[in-house]
Amino acid sequence: MAVFVGFIGVGNMGNPMAGNVLKSGVSLTVYDKSPRAMANLVQAGAKQGASVRDVVEQSEIVLTCLPASPDVEALYLEPGGLIDSAKPGTVLIDLSSVLPSTPRKLEPAAKKRGVHFLESPVSGGVAGARAATLALMVGGDADILKRVEPVLKAIGPNVFHVGPVGAGNIVKAINNMMACVNSLAMMEGLVLGVKAGLDPMTIYDVVKASSGGSKALERIPKAIVPRDFEPGFKVQLMNKDLETFTAIAKELHVPVSFANVAQRYEQAALAAGLGEKDTSVAVTIVEKLAAFEMPKGAAPK
Ligand code: NAD
Repeated sequence: MAVFVGFIGVGNMGNPMAGNVLKSGVSLTVYDKSPRAMANLVQAGAKQGASVRDVVEQSEIVLTCLPASPDVEALYLEPGGLIDSAKPGTVLIDLSSVLPSTPRKLEPAAKKRGVHFLESPVSGGVAGARAATLALMVGGDADILKRVEPVLKAIGPNVFHVGPVGAGNIVKAINNMMACVNSLAMMEGLVLGVKAGLDPMTIYDVVKASSGGSKALERIPKAIVPRDFEPGFKVQLMNKDLETFTAIAKELHVPVSFANVAQRYEQAALAAGLGEKDTSVAVTIVEKLAAFEMPKGAAPK
């Protein structure tokens, strides 16, 4: 039996995720406020929705992937929005990274209309979205998750049920804080090393085989050596995730420090007009402070 799925917000992450949902064999309707973002999916066989209402009226499950809390709250809660237009029994799943307070507002509003809601922020970047290897951090009703799991598995094999709504976005903020701190620590070490005369790929190879290695190292061959800072994951979105992490920390009176240090670089990148670039561009801020710029190299094989 055909499953009717909607996907709203097909940008850098949503687009490859929607592509994998389509490949899993469901009937997919997509919508994005930018028509250009939908073109490849429509060419691959998805239906182009005319509006949010149009998508949700045709779907049993609707996935959303928008930038931040204000976008998500407007899409779901406005009169004539997603919750208002969904038939009872529809499952709405937000894949965006947002403040935990957002899913906590959406779930009861959905429930009032007999509609189900799950949060499911994801991790693994655009490469992971393309390869369908993302980690999904699901908050909400476990029984509803069981019903929609086959669709989520089309996005990534690691579907974690982490607790009630809000819990998914807490673990997502923790993950991104750690990823950002690791990246900035890597960039400071890298700039120092290259200024000292080392080859960046030597640093990559040695640290990868040693105790300082992390996934952040992959930015060296992929983005930093070739000086390719197209997103990927935009600076403004990482800045938003660090805001989420520190908001949770303040609410719980947990003193934190590393997130603030890492966020200084994201803030400096925003001030330099680099908010739409990939987070790897923060290396150029580290370079400015070091009064040193790494030479561009060919993308290593
Ligand atoms: P993006 O800006 O590339 O895409 C967002 C898309 O949403 C755009 O195409 C935009 O036109 C569309 N949109 C916004 N408001 C809309 C509305 N009201 N109706 C319809 N379409 C709307 O951002 P992205 O990188 O895809 O990130 C999306 C979310 O996923 C963010 O919360 C981000 O933090 C998270 N995320 C991103 C990555 C990554 O590597 N890019 C990784 C994990 C999580």
